Amino acid sequence: MQIPPFNSYLGTKVVVKETGNATVVLDLAPHHLNRRGVTHGGVITSLLDSALGAAVISSIPAEWWCATTSLSTQFLEGAGQGRLTATGRVLRRGRRVAFAEGEVRDERQRVIATATGTWHLWAHRPGKPAELPEPFVVLRGSGEMLRVGQVVAVGRNYADHKAEMGATPSSPPVFFFKPSSAVVHDGATILFPTGAGALHHEVEMVVVVGKPGKAIPREKALHHVLGFAVGLDLTLRDLQSEAKKRGEPWAASKGFDGSAPVSSVALRDEVGDGSGLEIALTVNGEQRQHGSTSQMLHSVTDLVCWTSERLTLQRGDLIFTGTPAGVGPLHPGDRLEATLEKVGSLRVRIEAE
Ligand code: MG
Repeated sequence: MQIPPFNSYLGTKVVVKETGNATVVLDLAPHHLNRRGVTHGGVITSLLDSALGAAVISSIPAEWWCATTSLSTQFLEGAGQGRLTATGRVLRRGRRVAFAEGEVRDERQRVIATATGTWHLWAHRPGKPAELPEPFVVLRGSGEMLRVGQVVAVGRNYADHKAEMGATPSSPPVFFFKPSSAVVHDGATILFPTGAGALHHEVEMVVVVGKPGKAIPREKALHHVLGFAVGLDLTLRDLQSEAKKRGEPWAASKGFDGSAPVSSVALRDEVGDGSGLEIALTVNGEQRQHGSTSQMLHSVTDLVCWTSERLTLQRGDLIFTGTPAGVGPLHPGDRLEATLEKVGSLRVRIEAE
């Protein structure tokens, strides 16, 4: 169905529409007038809505959408014939809202009415999920999509996993980063990287940062935590072992596409400080990893303090907190389910590339 242009049923014509300014004209006809021969208030309001709306549309990217949320019209004079000219201009615009004002004049340049209004803005078509180019996590309850910034991960944070990897008990935790393309969600299919050796699962609690901070003191660390998720730190173990031997970084073994699946986020109010939570992973229904976050050698407070010592944590940053024992190889066709008490679950599948 062909949808007629904005307010065209009135007979309005947009004559100027550029960077936050618009002019819309209307040649008055008998059906625009009331019984006293004066233009209907609704016609004037619609004309102003057209002009201010066109100004707003001219100020936003072409793929954005907008809708009038309020329009206040002040009627000053009556107009009964000739051409009415409405001008609109944007006063202020953000990512979600625009403010505009304008007026209608008749052919004698008398101001017939003035208006101010607000417009809601969407960076995508309303009702359709946002196609976010950047990684995001979803907050449980509100459904808010939170943009993910840095993905920080800590290794060797459970004694039993440290032992299975042959690290000495006294060796310090290790920090590394994952790229934004690593973040995928519940239901994702992850392509098994070919020619890179063994792919291992590591189920981990993920801390989601809610408040920016640098050198965060211990007593305030939990205030910077928005919530928790359950995630997988998928690891190309052969590449990692080679890198360890050569003293090279872990980027290639930890940082491939889809290597950081993460569940929706449960807020801290519902979960607490992240300690004492049962964490587990099954592969094809068989339990492979099982532990408690109380086994973490370094607590959520420790990790928030340490990571924020050198880098500024931002809202939306993720901290993968390390894995308990039981890591092992995955194969194309495997179905994984990670669970974290009070937080929820995450299901992904591995397929051949
Ligand atoms: Mg890990």
